[in-house]
Amino acid sequence: MQQQKVKQLVIAGGGTAGWITAALLNKVLGNIVNITLIESDQIGTVGVGEASIPPIQHLNAALGIREREFINATQATIKLGIEFENWRAPSHNYMHAFGDIGKDFPFCEFYHYWLRAKQQGTNADFWDFSLNYQAAKQHKFAHLKHIPNTQLSGLNYAYHFDATLYVEFLKELTISRGVKRIEGKIANVKQCPESGFVKALELLDGQIISGDLFIDCTGLSALLIEKTLNTGFDDWSHWLPCDSAIALQTKTTTEPAPYTRSIAHDAGWQWQIPLQHGVGNGLVYSSRHITDEQAKQQLLDNIPGEPITEPRVIRFKTGRRLKQWHKNVVAIGLSSGFLEPLESTSIHLIQTAAIRLIKLFPHQGIKPVLIDTFNKQSKTEVERIRDFIILHYKLTERDDSGFWRQCKQMDIPISLQNKIDLFKQTGKLIREDDELFAEIAWQQVMIGQGLEAQDYHPLADALSDEQLAELFTNLKTLINGTVKQLPTHSEFLARMKNN
Ligand SMILES: Cc1cc2nc3c(=O)[nH]c(=O)nc-3n(C[C@H](O)[C@H](O)[C@H](O)COP(=O)(O)OP(=O)(O)OC[C@H]3O[C@@H](n4cnc5c(N)ncnc54)[C@H](O)[C@@H]3O)c2cc1C
Repeated sequence: MQQQKVKQLVIAGGGTAGWITAALLNKVLGNIVNITLIESDQIGTVGVGEASIPPIQHLNAALGIREREFINATQATIKLGIEFENWRAPSHNYMHAFGDIGKDFPFCEFYHYWLRAKQQGTNADFWDFSLNYQAAKQHKFAHLKHIPNTQLSGLNYAYHFDATLYVEFLKELTISRGVKRIEGKIANVKQCPESGFVKALELLDGQIISGDLFIDCTGLSALLIEKTLNTGFDDWSHWLPCDSAIALQTKTTTEPAPYTRSIAHDAGWQWQIPLQHGVGNGLVYSSRHITDEQAKQQLLDNIPGEPITEPRVIRFKTGRRLKQWHKNVVAIGLSSGFLEPLESTSIHLIQTAAIRLIKLFPHQGIKPVLIDTFNKQSKTEVERIRDFIILHYKLTERDDSGFWRQCKQMDIPISLQNKIDLFKQTGKLIREDDELFAEIAWQQVMIGQGLEAQDYHPLADALSDEQLAELFTNLKTLINGTVKQLPTHSEFLARMKNN
């Protein structure tokens, strides 16, 4: 292992992964390491990735970026959740709304009270008790951290944003804070003949960039972690059937909705992401079930306005690099693997990988224990998210196409099967290994996709029928009354621009 101190950090690649990593590492470790980032204008970036999840607020806060600045620089809108249309069955919708639903009691989540009421014949929709859902569907938003005099948490939100503009913004900020940027194409990776460690990157123009630690942010090409170190790949395409996407932007035709739309089609699904200056659209599909031409036509037939960019096919393989950190190379972003964009988790995984690297930073030299800990945590994190995404496909009731029949019949990871079994038999879900998606996220997808729990927790019987009915009425009154007072999403965005 490399015993010398890590002083020179080289980031290969300047997409979202490269610049988020550069920005965070520089902010926290800028006084102990020198950071150089190499990016190629000729190669460019993948150029997609418009939806995020709520922890992105922590990323911006850590970088000292104010919300208003971010929203205006990236043409961002608010995201309160993702609506899944036609996933369970054609014409059926549900939402994975961020934030809590109802009111949890000690040791017993609201879901169990709702299920008890349902089993007794009460006809209350689970999302009647979601402040996020109600605000999303009425296109309302305001900052609302906590609702007074209740235990309801406020609106939990993320953003839709133009990832290219975000990269430009981060680049300017990070260069102004001392990160060195070099434009050029990496033509050759120089390794130590004995250890295989990367010593330097040679650019097409002959420049040699040496370093102690290299971060591979070269996207799907995985230039260092795979093409140089042959780290290996755990292929998950048998569980996640889509391998292609077509993306394009359209003109805005309506007020932007504060949620993402995910619309299932016969061989995949379509995203619709409202931004301030347009709408991000894409079709994620299985090339084994439809051709690129058919996919392109399907997308063009279902877009909300006039295209302002050309449709672009992107091919990907779902899975993870067997080691995210190998020798003196750490892969962050698409070079480390890819879960398809269904739950908008890729940018989040960049954020957590950069934070993990900061926590385990090898300032005294690269040690196996640091590498093993990093790899173990990364593996667990991404496998839990993988299971959550597979759940959406597996629980479909659709059998109207070969694609959906394959999803319904496929084997799934044992970890996911256990979760489904536990929920189905007992109504319980346990958040494991600090996983990203909390019980409430799993509950929404399971209920939304039609998985019925057979039993609820006995603590839900502690309330009388009258108390339960009163609880439901009070919650609905509170949520509806709150939503009524909120400004519209468009008014919120206009205020962000004007103040
Ligand atoms: C269809 C699709 C939809 C997505 N939607 C979302 C979403 O909604 N939300 C989300 O969080 N994520 C989403 N993602 C993922 C997201 O786009 C990526 O995780 C994110 O953009 C990070 O990409 P990256 O920086 O790893 O790679 P890239 O953007 O590809 O950047 C790679 C960088 O490496 C450089 N490079 C490569 N080779 C060389 C070389 N030889 N020399 C010099 N430089 C080189 C390139 O120039 C570029 O700067 C989506 C991905 C896809 C495919």
